[in-house]
Amino acid sequence: MSSTQFEPIQFSAEEQQKQDNEARELVSHLLELTESVHDAKINHIRKIENVICGTDIPILSWRFSEWDYYSKKIELPTQARGLFTTKEGVIICRGYDKFFNFEELSSVKEEELRNNTKGPYTVTVKSNGCIVFISGLANGKLVVCSKHSTGTRTDLSRNHAMVAQEALEVQLKKYGKSLEDLGKLLHKYRITAVCEYCDDRFEEHVLEYKENKAGLYLHGLNMNTVEFKTYPMEKVQQFAEMFGFRETKFRKLDTFDQTLQFLKDSNKTGKFEGEEIEGFVVRCSKMVDEKANDFFFKYKFEEPYLLYRELREITKQFITQGPENLKFGKHKLICMDYMKYIMPYLVTNEKLKQEYLENKGIIELRKRYFESKNTTSMQLINDELDMIDLEEEMKKLKFGKSKPNRYVLVTLSTIGCGKTTTSVGVSNLFPEIIEHIQNDNIQSPGKDKLVLAALEVLSRKPVVIMDKNNHKTVERKQIFDGFQRLNNTIPKSKLKFICLNFIQRPPKGDKDLWDLTRERVYNRGDSHQSIKVEKDGIGNAEKIMRGFISRFQPLNTTTEPDCNFDYIIDLDVHQDNSSLQNMKKIVTALQSCTEDLDLKTPTEADYVKAFEKAKLYKPTFSKKISATKRKPVYFAIDVPQKEIIMNLMNTFNIDFFNRLVKGRRVQQDFHVTLVHSAMRKQNDTKKEFWDTYSNIFKSDISRFADTKTDIPQNKRCFLSGEYSADIQLEKVVWDSKAMCIQVKILGFQLKDEPIKLPCGIDFSHLTIGTIDKNFPPVLSGVMLKHLYGDEKEVSKIQEIKLSEEIVLTRLPLYVFMN
Ligand code: GDP
Ligand code: MG
Repeated sequence: MSSTQFEPIQFSAEEQQKQDNEARELVSHLLELTESVHDAKINHIRKIENVICGTDIPILSWRFSEWDYYSKKIELPTQARGLFTTKEGVIICRGYDKFFNFEELSSVKEEELRNNTKGPYTVTVKSNGCIVFISGLANGKLVVCSKHSTGTRTDLSRNHAMVAQEALEVQLKKYGKSLEDLGKLLHKYRITAVCEYCDDRFEEHVLEYKENKAGLYLHGLNMNTVEFKTYPMEKVQQFAEMFGFRETKFRKLDTFDQTLQFLKDSNKTGKFEGEEIEGFVVRCSKMVDEKANDFFFKYKFEEPYLLYRELREITKQFITQGPENLKFGKHKLICMDYMKYIMPYLVTNEKLKQEYLENKGIIELRKRYFESKNTTSMQLINDELDMIDLEEEMKKLKFGKSKPNRYVLVTLSTIGCGKTTTSVGVSNLFPEIIEHIQNDNIQSPGKDKLVLAALEVLSRKPVVIMDKNNHKTVERKQIFDGFQRLNNTIPKSKLKFICLNFIQRPPKGDKDLWDLTRERVYNRGDSHQSIKVEKDGIGNAEKIMRGFISRFQPLNTTTEPDCNFDYIIDLDVHQDNSSLQNMKKIVTALQSCTEDLDLKTPTEADYVKAFEKAKLYKPTFSKKISATKRKPVYFAIDVPQKEIIMNLMNTFNIDFFNRLVKGRRVQQDFHVTLVHSAMRKQNDTKKEFWDTYSNIFKSDISRFADTKTDIPQNKRCFLSGEYSADIQLEKVVWDSKAMCIQVKILGFQLKDEPIKLPCGIDFSHLTIGTIDKNFPPVLSGVMLKHLYGDEKEVSKIQEIKLSEEIVLTRLPLYVFMN
């Protein structure tokens, strides 16, 4: 035991009085919010009533929707995550203020942290279990709470609070301390001890906590105050020693940069002092109004946890569905290797399987595997590609016989490789089983049309061939995503994706391939939906062909999206009558990898007949494509509430606005520009912003750029993926030429999750209009720049600050294509 004694932080009577008042106010506010049925916020705050264990004292637990901690719009009465009070307004237990993962929100971005936090930075090991709050009553009775619950409950199958309480009792007894001593100390100094209960016997998380590691890890001592105040780690450690808690390891660093370096270095090994950990919680201070507040952020390692999750999922799939139906993810090769290792254990052991599904033995099995490899998980992740040979073995895995599967054959090719000929040939052989659909038969290939057509076929037949070049990874991704979104009839595990890989080596520079396919396309003449050699000349066709070859991205089954293929059939185009050979390869491969398709072996004559017929295939359909592509011009937030804004503007009765209305110079559609392509030339940062958007919305842009895609007449193409933004209208600004409303962007969301997107505009605004068509809307931005910068110009600029708070939420984003 350490010689240093735990010294509590004490407050003056006056300060305590103030804290008590704040607590009472907070609780009465919370009660008000939850009791007034009409308050819209009622959905966000939940009050859970309970009784402190071993007493009849009622206690309230306050719970907020997790999302509200992220929302900039919603101001929660407290940031405390875990808060227990009496209804009279005494805080019994107080958790930490909600803290976020590094870079997750703007408040924890690198720059923000560097500029606005202060050392020392205490980097503490993040334990991996469930959180437990412990405090005490005046009589020394302990109050043990899980995140939102305490005492006995009838509605829970596992009561974390009660299990933790038992563990605490065992711990104190072993340590020769009385429950009352702890309870009284916590009560006297108004402290909540914050622990992590880690014990695999109770509940397995990702890291292992067996016998000598299991227990309550003390990681914080919070003061039971409205404001978040927490003890320094040295004192936490002293306290842990005093009562036999497991200690939380930590390291102190002076500057943010040292801290970041330390975090990044640790991320490479996934370890701290030789032990595998999940990540760190960094404790420091943040300056708010010249006052240093306690501030936390976390830094979680990505790997090996991603791998661990995949191993767990694949094992569960294996147990519930058998070996035929495994769906692999990013770490496909390791997972396969792992499966080979654990299968013998699992197949014979019903108990093991049952327990695994109840989340027991997960870590054990994983550990056994890594031990057998004599390596660490991080090392294995780094060396994953060494196991590439496993792909071959995987190909031999048979797809199950038990229940019928649905097979999607996806071609991967360039032009003229015989996709259509081969596909038509194969479906000629098995017209009842296989049907061929092709992209070239779809006039304006909306993103999902081919997938929808495939699903339609699969409702009638077990196999569909999707004939399209799919030469870029985004196209393959679009197919997988499309099925993911649109398929709601075929069980996921029954849907198999097979790649018909026409291209084995890089097509660029493959002269034989070029000569052969060029010749074929030349001879095909006008017998193609869009490439009309006779009409447009071979030059045009060659140009299109070259484009496909230069953009070609080869199959890479070790990463997304190609790792979603369940099986690969390698084809070859270089030989004579390659399509005939490829038909044979496909049929043979399907026969060997499927057991539920009744594919009779065709005779040589059958093959030749089907092939000859396929060569005669002539499309009955013709479509027009133009070679020029559209380009993205700017990204923007759409503001559809035009009427609201017009009404608002009318209330001010500004002469300039009235003139805009009269002259029909009010913008057709309101929007807030986020980045403009012209900004790329301004500076590197702005170029980066543009690139960020171009990257995130890459697949949307390439779809809209394709002139085969129909886009709206106003060229505003809405971005997919349910991205949205919230804005607040701030002030109306105008001069003699332009008028706009300056806005504040409150945040962006993807579905319901807050995300970060940059804004390249210095002063975000929504242009109302310009007085003459010779003045472009960009003048609004110039005007705002003057307003905030150049004093000489300010006199000409007028402004009205909006007194009422107008927030517009969930506004969709679009890209303007030209
Ligand atoms: P796709 O662009 O990949 O769909 O290629 P097609 O299937 O349309 O083939 C291009 C041209 O080559 C067509 O005119 C086919 O009839 C012809 N073709 C395809 N495969 C073969 C083959 O194995 N032998 C011969 N001689 N011609 C073929
Ligand atoms: Mg074709």
